[in-house]
Amino acid sequence: MNRLGEKIAALIGAAGPISVADYMAICLFDPEYGYYTTREPFGAAGDFVTAPEVSQMFGELVAVWLAEAWSAVGAPLPLTIAEIGPGRGTLMKDMVRTLRRIAPRLAAGADFALVEASPRLTAVQRDTLSDSGPAFAWHATPDTLPDQPLLIVGNEIFDALPFRQFVRHDGKWMERAIGLDADGSFRFGIGTASLAAEQLPTTARNAPDGSIFEIAPAREALMSALAQRIAARGGAGIFFDYGHLEPGLGDTFQAVRKHRSEGVFDNPGEADLTSHVDFSALEAVATSHGLAARKATQAEFLLGMGLLERAGRLGQAGDSAVHEKITADVERLAGPDQMGELFKVLALLPPGVSVPPFRDAS
Ligand code: SAH
Repeated sequence: MNRLGEKIAALIGAAGPISVADYMAICLFDPEYGYYTTREPFGAAGDFVTAPEVSQMFGELVAVWLAEAWSAVGAPLPLTIAEIGPGRGTLMKDMVRTLRRIAPRLAAGADFALVEASPRLTAVQRDTLSDSGPAFAWHATPDTLPDQPLLIVGNEIFDALPFRQFVRHDGKWMERAIGLDADGSFRFGIGTASLAAEQLPTTARNAPDGSIFEIAPAREALMSALAQRIAARGGAGIFFDYGHLEPGLGDTFQAVRKHRSEGVFDNPGEADLTSHVDFSALEAVATSHGLAARKATQAEFLLGMGLLERAGRLGQAGDSAVHEKITADVERLAGPDQMGELFKVLALLPPGVSVPPFRDAS
């Protein structure tokens, strides 16, 4: 067991089993050994590759959407353009470059902000953005963003926030807890908290024993804070993540290290821990604040924003190696077997405002 594993085992030994949410929060953000606090997760040499790290086309098309959303909400200025959970800062860099070209008035008039929980990644982002042009402000939470209209983007942020699991046990839904085996290794068990029937989708009511249902209060709380701000001050938001558009049962807790999945207890703090995002739960939070929420798959969004046309223009001057790379990137971002279908997009807009490629709710 590694050092963080020993630290968590000591905690469980002293205080009893912990929830999946607590295990995840410690593994990702422990100040000494946490994944985001100490490691370089992104890119070919890291553990996973995200859409902005696949290709500049991702950030370019998101920037086009932001510029259109800005016009659709009445082109307010001053306004903040923010990204939450910016990783290496690549998406912001691509967006700023694009906005300066396609929407100079917006790019010149906006305040740019990054919301990042990890001090180490904040330093990486400062470095990436050092010659991008505008001044950037960093915030540890969205609560301190300026009190003005907000355009906010997040890629793979919600999946990184802790979630809870409930197991069907003797006809009840009990929280799944993490305790210790006789030999001191981690194991799943049944905790004491339970979930009421109203908190479950109807499909879960008669699920067999052993079924798992996931909820994520931390994700809903973040969505609530962002939606409340947009509802009060104006603006729009767009979020990308892997997950499902409809609620469902199933264990989606996963660990990824060096581009491979492994057991969630194998290397605490050394692997990325995530679960699938329940977009319907986030949508419900957004609409409870009076906003319109629009959902799509990443493929629908990127193709609707002109991914193929952009790829064609980007490849125009290049040789065949460049063409092959661009074709592979398009496939990676929007292919049905790659990110295109698994990744979903949620847009938040003021009621009555529509921005393509999202269709209005029927
Ligand atoms: N958007 C980036 C990185 C995704 S990884 C990309 O697509 O490449 C998740 C990012 O969210 C990391 O930067 C992590 O440090 C950050 N993060 C995790 N929890 C956070 C929180 N509560 N508030 C802000 N950022 C957070």
